[in-house]
Amino acid sequence: MAEDIKNYTLSELKSALSTKGFAPYCAGQVFNWIYAKKTENFDLMTNISKEMRDSLSENFYFSKLKISKREVSSDKTEKFLFELSDGASIESVFIPEGSRFTLCLSSQVGCKYGCKFCISGARGLKRNLTASEIVNQYLTVSGLIAEKITNMVFMGIGEPLDNFEMTVKAIKIFTEHKGLDFGKRRISVSTCGIIPQIEELSRLKLGVKLSVSLHSADSEIRSKIMPVNNKYPLGELMKVLKNFSESEKYPVTFEYALFGSLNTSRLDAQKLIRLLKGMNCKINLIPYNASQGAFKQPTPLEVEDFCKELENAGLFYTLRKSRGQDIHAACGQLYALWG
Ligand code: SAH
Repeated sequence: MAEDIKNYTLSELKSALSTKGFAPYCAGQVFNWIYAKKTENFDLMTNISKEMRDSLSENFYFSKLKISKREVSSDKTEKFLFELSDGASIESVFIPEGSRFTLCLSSQVGCKYGCKFCISGARGLKRNLTASEIVNQYLTVSGLIAEKITNMVFMGIGEPLDNFEMTVKAIKIFTEHKGLDFGKRRISVSTCGIIPQIEELSRLKLGVKLSVSLHSADSEIRSKIMPVNNKYPLGELMKVLKNFSESEKYPVTFEYALFGSLNTSRLDAQKLIRLLKGMNCKINLIPYNASQGAFKQPTPLEVEDFCKELENAGLFYTLRKSRGQDIHAACGQLYALWG
């Protein structure tokens, strides 16, 4: 049976070609055609022998993602709804911001972690995406938009570290020099805090950035809104993250959604300051986007006071503007109904 070629990293393609008796270096040429020259037809790969092109056509095919909907927000954020071959759906979001053009990728159909404020996991996990389904989100969107994507974030539907193998494979494909050659530091993987896979990611030395959805520096509150904290508690998570940022020599980013009257008091800010003290990190504050659960958007005063506390303590933070709310494309609003 023919295989989906976009599920192959360069080294996997090399071994596949050499088992068929072809020179492994040809894999680099194939990668270059697909990801640098955007060619999805083996017959057009003219620097490869006819014999090998025929063999490639016999053994591999090019998968495609079907777009079922494309919506543009008043702030120019765009949301793409894709239908997968089994009828399941996922979403990707394109976020233009000055000279930065970010693509937000999904890694799973649904999510099993059940964070109380996030609708992506409201119906649990249906399945993992394949590497090609992740890679194809990039290839499809980049083929449709005028701008060049400068950054990718695994912050769409799903928990990328729960689909570790395919996430890593997709990153290897994106960053392969002979192909797309996407900058490692321009890719961020976001996690709700899956300790063993954070350690594994560190061992693999992929060089991508890590974001962690923190949302509270108080373990009790965090457990209430993020059940994953019961399995991987805050204290242990922080130890692993400190090691991660030290060995990567790069700051970890903490995502902190501000929920009105829940995690925005002066005391909450002080707990956060204490937790992150001395650590090489950045904080990304995200005012809660109406999604699901009984949460409130923070008042402007709550946001201001919280920011002031962090500033006074000398912590580096950014206050993220919510993008694409009118088309439900903001953090925690991606749903993609699946059957
Ligand atoms: N599972 C990964 C990837 C999802 S990223 C993770 O948890 O990091 C999506 C980001 O949006 C996470 O930081 C998530 O906690 C945040 N988020 C989810 N629902 C939200 C909401 N309603 N308002 C603001 N941020 C939200």
